[in-house]
Amino acid sequence: MPLVTTPAVILHVMPYGDTSKIVRLLTRDLGLASGIARGARRAKSATGPRLDLFALGSATLRVREARELSPLTGFEIARGHAALGHDVGRFAAASALAELALKCAPAEPHAEVFGAVAGGLAALESAAAGDVEVTALAACWRVVVALGFSPSLDRCVTCGSPVAGTAHFSAAQGGALCARHAAAREEGGGFDDVTRLVPSDRATLAALVAGLLPEAPLDARHAVAHRRLLRSFIRHHLAEDRPLPALAFWDRSAWTATSS
Ligand SMILES: [Zn+2]
Repeated sequence: MPLVTTPAVILHVMPYGDTSKIVRLLTRDLGLASGIARGARRAKSATGPRLDLFALGSATLRVREARELSPLTGFEIARGHAALGHDVGRFAAASALAELALKCAPAEPHAEVFGAVAGGLAALESAAAGDVEVTALAACWRVVVALGFSPSLDRCVTCGSPVAGTAHFSAAQGGALCARHAAAREEGGGFDDVTRLVPSDRATLAALVAGLLPEAPLDARHAVAHRRLLRSFIRHHLAEDRPLPALAFWDRSAWTATSS
């Protein structure tokens, strides 16, 4: 049973038995991992109080081959991210990001996905109150892109011809459509997954997909549209039939600067 110490983010914590905790982690060196921290809920536990949701740190796991649950023998916190729990908007977005990693990340190690999730949680914690929503959108897109699903924004996903000006974006097809293919989709029916993007919307989406905050602030109407588009894209390309309740909760709720 090799003892492995790796950078890790805590994505889920649940009590187990009378005194223990089970922790789901995204680790840099082991990928997704489940650890059992025995005695973590005892008053004198050294590790237990550190096992907070969204904390980034260094986890030590006694890895057992062919067993899903590895004993978690230590967790040294680098960033506790406690402030994510003080604000409902940040918490909802962090929960959506954690869920995306738990449900969609590969089981094997993936440094880019680890970096995107850890960086996203840190950015959500430190974002200015008015930037929480765009920070969350950029963080989720960064994870989606790290997982290998980058939408095409400058070329039609069907024929590859350049797309300029106002364009249609098909979440199901994974990117922009030229005028000809947008018209063909509309005639064929089933246009629910398609969003019309004026050039400023497309620039905003391009920034978010690059993991950056857009230059122009998002008003409430555009923020709703961008959350819908992201969720629809995830549903079609990453989630398959798995429900993503935290993402749905974040999407449905308008977390504006005034609510935080
Ligand atoms: Zn086309």
